[in-house]
Amino acid sequence: MKTLLALLALLTALFSVGCSSAKWYKGNTHVHTILCGHADSSPEAVTKWYHDHDYNFLILSEHNIFIDPSKVKMPTPLKKDFILIPGQEVTGIKNIHTTAMNIKSLTPWGDLPKSRDKVLQRQVDEIEKKGGVTILNHPNYKTSLTPKDVFPVEKLYMFEVFNNSWFESNYSEYHEDHPSEEVWWDRLLSEGMIMYGVGSDDAHDFKKYGLKKSNPGRGWVMVRSEKLDADSITRAMFHGDFYTSTGVHLSEYKVTKNKIIVTASRSETIKELEKQIVRRGKSVPGQKTGFKIELIGQKGKLIKTANSSWAEFDLTKLPKSAYFRVKVSYVQNHPERGKEGFYAWCQPIFKDGREKKLRVYQHDYLYPHGHGHGH
Ligand SMILES: [Zn+2]
Ligand SMILES: [Zn+2]
Repeated sequence: MKTLLALLALLTALFSVGCSSAKWYKGNTHVHTILCGHADSSPEAVTKWYHDHDYNFLILSEHNIFIDPSKVKMPTPLKKDFILIPGQEVTGIKNIHTTAMNIKSLTPWGDLPKSRDKVLQRQVDEIEKKGGVTILNHPNYKTSLTPKDVFPVEKLYMFEVFNNSWFESNYSEYHEDHPSEEVWWDRLLSEGMIMYGVGSDDAHDFKKYGLKKSNPGRGWVMVRSEKLDADSITRAMFHGDFYTSTGVHLSEYKVTKNKIIVTASRSETIKELEKQIVRRGKSVPGQKTGFKIELIGQKGKLIKTANSSWAEFDLTKLPKSAYFRVKVSYVQNHPERGKEGFYAWCQPIFKDGREKKLRVYQHDYLYPHGHGHGH
């Protein structure tokens, strides 16, 4: 018995050490190469751009082409903390596209189903068969989908809340059925879905730079993981252990049973926005410059705002909501374009136990320690 207790204590210690050793890794889940015919650089050149710009991982997500990372010549000298994660942009009919993250081989994009929800469901199922998980890409692209098309889809837990290549559609409210991506997000969440928001470049242009070009470096994810390998990063994202950014860096994001604590890093954010990258923020005329942290709940309701770079939310003192999520904004004044907003979107915290549905995936690597994910 004593030995058993000692062993348990040791395992507990190892587990907590493991968790506390988790680090943040910067990555882009969606990019194109010359292989698709409408982008300008080779897989090697694209990889080198991300390698040389402080990223830790990249998915070469080509339209219905599987780029095997083991066949891509990596930059030399190669940084120790940079990897390629295998993937593909599954490109189906009706302009429905998904990133197949961490697949083992080419995923079919067959177009038998007629309805939009079934096209998407089929992509999710095929990606699962290939060992990966699905990110729904740019849902407003050519008004391919409405939130109602996505509600019935099972095993879909990630979507692009930001895609730089379709910049306008991230923020615009041009139709009741095609709202801004953030409104999309709250609709999916309010319908009871588990949905994490991903940000990506979907970059095509590495040779010419401009505001209207599909350039790299403008939307990414910061993933908290114990290790930098394809399975660990995919697992962390599958469980929502990441945030999405268009420029804002966080130095702390902590969720306990009753509290959310979030701190934006002023120095890292300013450093990021000063980098030699062509980027634009959301036009926000009239907004105050500086940081703002918002707590958002069911149906996108704004619950609390802190006009600072730090906030602590006591969840026991808030109105009831099936989920909460945190959005951090940084507004700066651009000399020509005026006030522009940059963001960090944290993943929702569910208060109705819905995340237990995550267990339906068949891949063991998505479930560390054999008993689901512990924080
Ligand atoms: Zn696409
Ligand atoms: Zn794409």
